[in-house]
Amino acid sequence: MTPMMKQYHEAKKACGDALLFFRMGDFYELFLDDAKKAAGLLGLTLTSRDKDSDNPTAMAGFPHHQLDGYLRKLIQAGYRAAVCEQVEDPKTAKGLVRREITRIVSAGTLTDDVMLDPREANYVAAVVLQHKKGAGKNAGEPMAGIAWAELSSGRFYAGTFPQTRIDDELARIGPAEVLYREDDARFSIDTTAPWSWTSRPAWSFAEDTARETLCKQFAVNGLEGFGFHDEDDAPAIRAAGAVLTYLQDTQPSGLDHFRSLAAHQQSGVLQIDASTRRSLEITRTLRTGSRSGSLLDAIDLTCTPMGSRLLADWIAAPSISIHCIESRHESVAELLRDHALRTDIRNTLKQTFDITRLLARIATGRTGPRDLQQVARTLAGLPQLKARLADRAPERLQFVEAHLHLCPNLRQRLESGLADECPLSASDGNFIRPGFDEELDALRELAKGGKQWIAAYQQKQMDETGISNLKVGYNKVFGYYLEVINSQKGKIPADFIRKQTLKNCERYITPELKEYEEKVLAADDKASSREQLLFGELRNETHRHLSTLQEVAMAMAELDVLTALAEIAAQRNWIRPEMTDDSILRIEAGRHPVLDVTLPQGEFVPNDCVHSPESGMILLITGPNMAGKSTYIRQVALITLLAQAGSFVPAEKATIGIADRIFARVGASDELSRGQSTFMVEMVETARILNTATPRSLVILDEIGRGTSTYDGLSLAWAITEHLHEQIGCRTLFATHYHELTQLEESLPRVANLNVAVKEWNDEVVFLHRIVAGGADKSYGIHVARLAGIPRVVNERAKDVLAQLEADHRDALDRPTIPPPGGSNSNGGSGGSYQLTLFGFADHPVLTQLQDLQLDSMTPLDAMTFLQNAKNEL
Ligand code: ADP
Repeated sequence: MTPMMKQYHEAKKACGDALLFFRMGDFYELFLDDAKKAAGLLGLTLTSRDKDSDNPTAMAGFPHHQLDGYLRKLIQAGYRAAVCEQVEDPKTAKGLVRREITRIVSAGTLTDDVMLDPREANYVAAVVLQHKKGAGKNAGEPMAGIAWAELSSGRFYAGTFPQTRIDDELARIGPAEVLYREDDARFSIDTTAPWSWTSRPAWSFAEDTARETLCKQFAVNGLEGFGFHDEDDAPAIRAAGAVLTYLQDTQPSGLDHFRSLAAHQQSGVLQIDASTRRSLEITRTLRTGSRSGSLLDAIDLTCTPMGSRLLADWIAAPSISIHCIESRHESVAELLRDHALRTDIRNTLKQTFDITRLLARIATGRTGPRDLQQVARTLAGLPQLKARLADRAPERLQFVEAHLHLCPNLRQRLESGLADECPLSASDGNFIRPGFDEELDALRELAKGGKQWIAAYQQKQMDETGISNLKVGYNKVFGYYLEVINSQKGKIPADFIRKQTLKNCERYITPELKEYEEKVLAADDKASSREQLLFGELRNETHRHLSTLQEVAMAMAELDVLTALAEIAAQRNWIRPEMTDDSILRIEAGRHPVLDVTLPQGEFVPNDCVHSPESGMILLITGPNMAGKSTYIRQVALITLLAQAGSFVPAEKATIGIADRIFARVGASDELSRGQSTFMVEMVETARILNTATPRSLVILDEIGRGTSTYDGLSLAWAITEHLHEQIGCRTLFATHYHELTQLEESLPRVANLNVAVKEWNDEVVFLHRIVAGGADKSYGIHVARLAGIPRVVNERAKDVLAQLEADHRDALDRPTIPPPGGSNSNGGSGGSYQLTLFGFADHPVLTQLQDLQLDSMTPLDAMTFLQNAKNEL
């Protein structure tokens, strides 16, 4: 094996399952299996290194400047890549050039701008399972530690959650890569998840190792200062340790921008489970999974990528603290009121750069002159922002103002040190501003002076030899030379030394020329070393300001989000909602925030929504398909979510009682790919709502029970409504096509019926999209079918069948009266008895069983099982 291949194999051993990109001169090469894989994945040509041997080594490669493109492709295909660079200058190296792995790139550890959407965070997360320790309350409960970090910003969080929340938390965080313990057999890995899974050694999840690694990174003695106090925090710390070890392994060049670990404040956040998050299309749409078309996309008017990412955080995790929410609203109000202030701030922010990511490049040793210049240009915008915010009353604006540190010395150094145009990479040279460093100026002058001397020398030689087209040229091999065309060769003086013969000319050197050449080249060389040294100093100076600049970045991001929220409020006439801690909701002329932005102004029909103990906590919305039921219930959920995120809302007036959780069971979800039936998914989601909703939650339900027979579905919907009314009492919007449910309004005091107004005209149906009181009396399904293009004959026949069915139904209306569920103890206070008009039979044994049911103490699953048995008996 050649020494180089030996070096290759050593590097390969160190990079685990990652494909190794091995730098050789101007190329990156992959060998052996890596080469074969890469050839297929990246479309590279597969060759071999020692073609004539019996066992040639497979090889594939590409020019070095194409690295980013190929890395991106590989990561997108779900692989990891290790980059092994030449770490010494091949010109001066003795023997084999030293090579080192400088980074391992995976989906969760991308940093380079070309590979990341600047508007999106890119987290790597870790999950570890652990039962709750000790003998106290809930001891033995299955818990999970989840930590998540972003290499491109240094943000790092950890929290301990019940294991049942893993999916929801990961959905909120939206990581690109999730680490798990290699031997965690209990952990189920969902391969359909939108992130890649990476297994990691068990030791990196061990509590002691984790504590030690974290303390060392942050240079502290304990983690109490970050809010991790007791043994209950162990899972969070273990996960954080695993994330940090992974980052250290993959980023040997440094992680200085990781300065702290934030304890995730679960209690302050509006809880939204994974399926609700998907159904409400908060940050991605259901159908395509893309950002475009989501709530976030519709309202994102931020001017900086930092702001865009923070807005995504706010929308993904709205607050439940009235103080936090109102302090954001207060700032938005100020920025909305003062148009000039808003415009000034936005214009200034547009001139700035993504310093969060610039700082990460500085900390991980991947920075260049242009990055530093962008830091300086960003600093240059701060005095203007700070001045505009001085003396503003709102608390958040004061906070921002206080954190916009101007760093005048750093700014002055960078501005005076860097030229107007800076290259990306320091090795390109010529970026230090003249006048910044005397020594560099002198060297440059010398190099330039040498060049002037050479020009004069050329003239002198022309005059002396009489060769009018004599030229001084330069190449890397011979350095400076004199070039004379063949026809003039006779005029050459004796002291010219011939160096090279070309077709039409000869090239010569003279001792005098060589002497000056040395001076010029030495000066050039020294100037460029000097320039690298100065760059290093400027970089280190910026690096020393890391924590201060991270605070600046955070303040700029917040200012950007607050201003963007004011801007959308101004553009779309959104209003400040009044927030309360009561469980009420009063929206006047509310609009769907996404349709409000995407439909032409004025086309969306606004609607009210009132939830209060007096007017009804459960609103049943009936009406034909396509009338606007889903839109209406989603709109209420989205308005609540926006308000709690700190935004103004699309309405004329709104009073919003802060919700602790939002649940949406809406439409067919995308779970079918996971092998569950639509009905099962619906029931699992509904069960979760019934088991976890509190009186302060907001629940929206769309068409429960569609995936089963009508009676099954209707009975479930009925029982679920009762349970929500009697046991939970939370604000609920239930869109349904079961008209029978509207009877519940009579027996349950806090149920109110709504329907969507429809105009019938000449046998045509016009949807008015207006929500009005009362239940719908017709479903218009047949009309809608006609609009959809069902042939007229089929439609006519359907009308006949309907008429017949309705007649039969009326005959069956003579049926017994059944007491309400839970007997007389029911806390519904409804008194009266139930006209249960849904079954068309009077004395079936199932009815007796039904009568004996203790619905209050039944789980949804029991209810299902009962129904299944009852159905079998029919
Ligand atoms: P449903 O749930 O009753 O079947 P949807 O909510 O899906 O109906 O709405 C059907 C269509 O009507 C959608 O294309 C939507 O854009 C439109 N729509 C719904 N509500 C309104 C409204 N308030 N103003 C204008 N268009 C609306």
